[in-house]
Amino acid sequence: MPDASHTVPRHLDVAIVGGGLAGLYAIHRLRRLGLRVRAYEAGSGVGGTWFWNRYPGARCDVESLEYSYSFDAELQQDWKWPERYGTQPEILKYVNHVADRFDLRRDVQLDTRVKSALFDSKANEWVIKTDTGEEIRARYCVMAAGNLSTPRVPDFRGLQGFNGKWYHSGLWPHEGVDFSDLRVGVIGTGSSGVQMIPIIAEQAKHLTVFQRTANFSLPARNVPMPAEKERAHKAQYPARRAAAMETPFAIGGYPKPTRSALEVDKAERDAAYESKWQEGGSISYLYAYTDLLVNKASNDTASEFVRNKIRAIVKDPRTAELLAPKNHPIGTKRLCLDTNYYETYNRPNVALVDVRSDPIDRITETGLELESGTAFELDAIVFATGFDAMTGALNEIDVATSGGAVLRQHWEGGPLTYLGLMVAGFPNMFIVTGPGSPGVKTQMIASIEQHVDWIADAIDHLGRHQLDRIEPTPQAESEWVSHVNQVADSTLYPLANSWYMGANIPGKPRVFMPYVGGFDRYKRHCDAVAAQGYQGFTLSRHETVAA
Ligand SMILES: Cc1cc2nc3c(=O)[nH]c(=O)nc-3n(C[C@H](O)[C@H](O)[C@H](O)COP(=O)(O)OP(=O)(O)OC[C@H]3O[C@@H](n4cnc5c(N)ncnc54)[C@H](O)[C@@H]3O)c2cc1C
Repeated sequence: MPDASHTVPRHLDVAIVGGGLAGLYAIHRLRRLGLRVRAYEAGSGVGGTWFWNRYPGARCDVESLEYSYSFDAELQQDWKWPERYGTQPEILKYVNHVADRFDLRRDVQLDTRVKSALFDSKANEWVIKTDTGEEIRARYCVMAAGNLSTPRVPDFRGLQGFNGKWYHSGLWPHEGVDFSDLRVGVIGTGSSGVQMIPIIAEQAKHLTVFQRTANFSLPARNVPMPAEKERAHKAQYPARRAAAMETPFAIGGYPKPTRSALEVDKAERDAAYESKWQEGGSISYLYAYTDLLVNKASNDTASEFVRNKIRAIVKDPRTAELLAPKNHPIGTKRLCLDTNYYETYNRPNVALVDVRSDPIDRITETGLELESGTAFELDAIVFATGFDAMTGALNEIDVATSGGAVLRQHWEGGPLTYLGLMVAGFPNMFIVTGPGSPGVKTQMIASIEQHVDWIADAIDHLGRHQLDRIEPTPQAESEWVSHVNQVADSTLYPLANSWYMGANIPGKPRVFMPYVGGFDRYKRHCDAVAAQGYQGFTLSRHETVAA
């Protein structure tokens, strides 16, 4: 339990916000530099995403042999993933194992939410305050608060008066939920909805799915881990990890495409898509041709192939048409992976309701009502409505400087960063996989390790040169933001109203947030910036005033 009676500020070299995969690796990596570090985590356990998202069917959608830490050769050899894609309990078990194996827990403070972070320029320290009344002073602050860690419950009228129970996928009760014999409504058909719907359908008396936007989903083809696959992968682990670094999504094992989808005829193209569909996984599909994410005509062929699959699987033609996405090119929103998602709509106890044409008006005591007045009787409502992505967690913290800069104001028109790692005017504050980095478009643990390594090297560089302050120049920040936008504009991504764009949050600025130039290109750029003496950053020695 946190020590609420703490009145003397704790002094650290690095304060870390968040105890997910990023926060834990930051502890490990920064400790090796001999620094005093401590992570503050709002939850009552480590694991971040995998601690909070316990909904039925939650699992990773990048294969577990890839979606795991690479920093320790023995760890990756020792750990056995039972399935191709780890389930949430399995991944959480892994994270806890890592925390114990590397003795990380002694530097994680659970049940502690960071409320504010103020940079005291004179003292050259971040002053961090928590909801437990503590004050922490640290030379550096690492924001490892997550991109998908601020659950978004839509602001429906009447929710408080609902007589049944309601849940959000990202705040799932630890004891689980039994939907047997209940009339359940799921609102949202993004990745979490797509994973949970088939499982809830098996339990519930009746399931109504309320869909605003149809999303593309591909079969995961999950299986128990084939022993030979595991053996072969582990025999080449270092080479495979190194190869992944040279790819746009930081995921190896897929042959690099060499041709445009328009260079081959329809029969050959469909055969290629069919083979990827059978293989399962999203990267494989998007890697079928070179230009699926940059050329609309090419993308149309891949999108239409999946739409036709949906039409073939779902027996009711009207439901099939509603499920077949038509308002965005495949891959420009997070591509879902599923097990029997479309098949679920053939069950007699499942119905799909289009809330794009007839939006939800309010939650009633006994269910919900659409604008047309159509009412649904429900015993339980599940919000699979996602997160205030990428900026939500940071915007919930009062981040400011003694000079009067306020992060929320700096980001009013959309997030501004240099490399997704730092913000001009906010010295010594690093962000792990922040907006402007490719993080969310990659195998995220690879990005987390790359970001944290870069941050640790920067702090080490400062120490070795008797420097103690780093911040990006406003010019470097604005050039990077322009570059991120230019790259995005050369792709199809801006055609989708996605959470990459902030489109799922009313009032949020519509700015494309991730860097989509590829992990490989980004990493090379970050390495070059460091090699050139941290180009675009101002490094200085600050005469501190004794507190
Ligand atoms: C359901 C789901 C499935 C996913 N599947 C994949 C996948 O297959 N592949 C992939 O690459 N990525 C996946 N992701 C993305 C996933 O978020 C990352 O892979 C990774 O877990 C992020 O780790 P993190 O430590 O950066 O952030 P998080 O895991 O989000 O951890 C951040 C932590 O910070 C804490 N925090 C936030 N604000 C504060 C505060 N003010 N004070 C104290 N603590 C705070 C939060 O409580 C949280 O525990 C998935 C995400 C979700 C939601």
